[in-house]
Amino acid sequence: MVAFPALWLGARAQPAAGRIATPSQTEGPFYPVRLPTDSDNDLLRNGTLDYRRGQPARVDGTVTDLDGKPLRGAQVEIWQCDENGHYHHPGDGDRADAAFQGFGRATVGEDGSYRFRTIRPVPYGGRTPHIHVKVKLGTRELLTTQLYVAGDPGNARDFLWRNLSQTARDAVTVPFERGADGLRARFPIVITA
Ligand code: FE
Repeated sequence: MVAFPALWLGARAQPAAGRIATPSQTEGPFYPVRLPTDSDNDLLRNGTLDYRRGQPARVDGTVTDLDGKPLRGAQVEIWQCDENGHYHHPGDGDRADAAFQGFGRATVGEDGSYRFRTIRPVPYGGRTPHIHVKVKLGTRELLTTQLYVAGDPGNARDFLWRNLSQTARDAVTVPFERGADGLRARFPIVITA
């Protein structure tokens, strides 16, 4: 697991009083019925297939408790639709691109870090772009939420995003910033359990 010292120091420098629990959001209808054979943290490579559509993005961050202590060994799961707005799910007609993994898992490292490679999420069926996120420790589900793209014009029209308080919006809405190797989003996840 690659560490991100700068990010970690940033998280530590934050006063505990300023850290809020990441708000939960509905799981939605498209959590996989059956987990894909390939369910690692690289959603751009499914088995032997490479997904070349959409805007590649790194999504990474930390999973900590309210005091900033890393939840090492926890699992972060993400799932999202492909560039055409389709999930790997019978409820969506199983129409997602075979090369897009659509679901992935990352284990939280000693330093609390996790990372994924995926695409910047796209809108579908009236929803603003989002990535579904679940955090588990063993079989225990600690959090189910959704991650949003800062500055996306669809956010203000989204029924779920609009119902969040400003503080909650700030906690689940992060910029996808262009770097040397594509887009990058940092999503710090804070768990109360
Ligand atoms: Fe969704």
